Order: sequence, then structure tokens, then C-alpha cells
Amino acid sequence: MSDHRYKGYRGPTLELMKRFGITVWCEVRAETTRGEFRGLVLPRSETSDPDHLVLKLDSGYNVGLRHDTVEGLQKTGYREARYKIPEQEFPTDDGKPAVKLFGTGGTIASRLDYRTGAVIPAFSPGELYGSVPELADICNLETEKLFGVFSENMGPEQYLVLAEKTGEAIREGYDGVVIGHGTDTMHHTAAALSFMVQRPPVPVVMVGSQRSSDRPSSDAAQNLIHATGAAASGPIAEVMVCMFGPTSARYNLLHRGTRVRKMHSSYRSTFRTLGDIPLAMVDHDRITPLKDDFLPRRDDRRVEIRAAFDERVTLVYYYPNMHPDIVDALVDRGYKGIVIAGTGLGHVNRAIYPALERARDAGVQIYMTLQTLWGFVQMQVYETGREILGLGVVPLSNMLPEVAYVKLGWAFGLHPDDPDAVRRLMTTSIAGEITDREPHDGYLVFQGGVPEIRDLLEKVWK
Ligand code: ASP
Repeated sequence: MSDHRYKGYRGPTLELMKRFGITVWCEVRAETTRGEFRGLVLPRSETSDPDHLVLKLDSGYNVGLRHDTVEGLQKTGYREARYKIPEQEFPTDDGKPAVKLFGTGGTIASRLDYRTGAVIPAFSPGELYGSVPELADICNLETEKLFGVFSENMGPEQYLVLAEKTGEAIREGYDGVVIGHGTDTMHHTAAALSFMVQRPPVPVVMVGSQRSSDRPSSDAAQNLIHATGAAASGPIAEVMVCMFGPTSARYNLLHRGTRVRKMHSSYRSTFRTLGDIPLAMVDHDRITPLKDDFLPRRDDRRVEIRAAFDERVTLVYYYPNMHPDIVDALVDRGYKGIVIAGTGLGHVNRAIYPALERARDAGVQIYMTLQTLWGFVQMQVYETGREILGLGVVPLSNMLPEVAYVKLGWAFGLHPDDPDAVRRLMTTSIAGEITDREPHDGYLVFQGGVPEIRDLLEKVWK
């Protein structure tokens, strides 16, 4: 049984703590090979690595001390954290729209205790109201925690539950659905829901946060407010992601679920629409559509939930000199479909052609997408492309690689015994995953230091 005094610690770090008579919530002075540290020993999650003792320093930062760098630990005090956020009853107002908020985990679902830095869940409406009271001005909120995982642990099993639950909430009459999610794989889940929840009459808005709510620069509250606003009364009834637009807190963007991707590991403005422009801007008093070809909100409660997924599909990121045995191994293991993220216009090296041929002969479907993320697969341009087409590889236009992977799993899930139906579905756009053209002004990479970008920023960013 795990001992609460050492919460989350095991292996060498647990031994270290016992050796010096230290438990979690002890204030300590640590002598290490990197110098002296003073702070509070924080609990860890059961899945954390066994090698680090984590201290909350007086500066507010957390530091992980590797057990083998610690030479001595001296207890100087004890300060146990409060795990509970004061709950305040969420006020209801019959005139306000009703929103259902599903929680799946990630940084947005947690709140760090100000004093200690321990991550504690904040999820009931009362807790959310206690931390973000603005939500009550927007809607009547109901919450339901479906999972409590960081988003690398999301997958088909969770996608299916989310799709069914979203369908239920829509049929029950909610005016919008918000889904709190870790940011790392939010674009995979957004793609899955875009395919599984078809033609919803109300917005389905995914939201996360890059920085936890104890940090002054946290994006959690703003993202939650704008996502909830877009769900409660926004005009766009699609599966979307709502996150910071610019690096400043000026507005959020709504991105279509099949065209969005996390593009920066730590910036709050990490989500970008690729191959298109975002659907809309959201700020405190309005939602401004940037496109007009969106699906509008409707009054009916009709929605088609097509929740299915076959996990025997994969995504392979091509690199020069990839060996054919990678593809062979997938075929041998019974994979039914492979999405390749190819170079340039959709290329792989000659050495894997025989493996692609063997895959085709074994009935494995192979699709081509692009590592460049912007632009279209064009396999007629170079001889290489034409050769690969000749091996039966199917080009997927400008579908993003992750979206293609998710769609392939979904398509095989819907049509387990009908490979032609899978192929037809893959090459037909059903939720904006393939577009006719990409806007010439959509592709813009801010290259700091370049004069024209500086000029532009000075003009626009007053
Ligand atoms: N690793 C976290 C996750 O994706 C990060 C976040 O929540 O933003 O779940």
C-alpha cells in the first residue's frame, strides 16, 4: 500500500527521503552537488519518475532534485496544503444559455495550490465559479468529468465516449458543449470528434491551457471564458478549438477541428489553423467570423453520432533512408492502413517501393500526406510521385497527417469489411479536412528580426 506521507515517491527518491526523515509537505534545506536549495517537498503523481525530489522554492518555482545529487536534507518546518478550493454555488439564470462542460484532464482541469504548487483538480461548477466567476455571466453551466488524464493518454477509447456524451448533451438540449482537454493532443481529439459528431446543431468547443492557473501569465481563465462564450451563443455549429490568438491576451481564435494543430511547445498562442484561416476571433464582447463558409447554429436537436475506430492503422513520418522493413513489419503485424507523412509534394525513397508493393498486395491501404503541413499532395509533378502512385498509394490532397490518421481509424471502424468504402470516405471531405485551395495570405511564419515582419508588427500591433 502506498504511504500517504511519501505520496507519489518510490525507488531511490523514497529511500533518500526515509534516510533523512523527510516526508511530503516538509520544508527542507537540501545540500546538493548543484548548491543549496530551500523549499517545500511536494507530493508527486504516481506516474512521475522515481528519480526526483520536487521542491517548491520560495520564489514560487518548482525544482526537481535528482536523488543522486542530494548530499543532505534537513527538515526546517512542515506546511501541509489545502486540497480543496472553496466552492461557491454557481448561480443559475433562466435567461441564459445552458452549456455542458466535459472534462478530460490536462492543465486546464487542474489548479495549482498557490502556497504549495501541488496540482489539485478544479472541476465542479462551484469550483470553476470560485476560480472564474465570469462564467456565470455567460451561461448556466453543468460539468461532468469524463477522464482525468494528460492528453498523451487520450485515444480511441476516450474519443468514442466523448462523441457519445457530446451527442447526449446535444439531444438533452444544451446550447453548446465545451470540452476541456490537454493541449498536446487536442488536435487529434478535435479531428476525431469532427468525424464522429456530424452536423451538430450547436457549437462543440475544445479548450485547454498552456500555463496552469497559478501562474500570472496563465491562459486558463481567458480560454475558458471565450470557449464558453463561443459555445453558449456563438453562431458556428462545428467542432472547434478555442485558444489564445496572438502572443498577447487580446483575443482568442476559433479553429476548425480538422485544420488545427499545436505548433509551439510553450507559447499560449500555440494553436494555428493550417491550410486555411481561422473560423473566428473571440473577445470579451463579441465573436467575429473570419470566414463565411461555416455551418451555422440551428434550433433543432438533430445530430448524427458515428462513433467507431479501428486501431490497426498508423502514421509513419518518412525520413531519408527509411528502410523497407518498417513498412513490412506493419504489414506483418496486421495493420490495415498506413498514412505516410511524405516529403515535398508527397515523396518517399525508392528503397521502400517494394515494401509498398507488398503492402498493397496484402490489401493494406496506404495514403500520402505532407510533412510541410501547408499545401497539397501532388504526385504527378515528379517521376517519384508518379511511381509511388503506380504502387497504389492514395494521395490525400491537403489533409493534415494527424487528421488523416484519425480519419483512417474512424473509416475502418465504420466499414470493417468494405475497403472500397474506406477508400471513398478517405478521399471525400466531410468536415473541412480537404479544401479546394489554401488562402495565399494564410501561410505566414513570423520570422523575428526580419525587417518586413517588424514593419508589419509595428503597423498592426499598436
Ligand atoms: N501535457 C499536457 C496535456 O496535454 C499539457 C496541457 O494540458 O496543456 O495534457
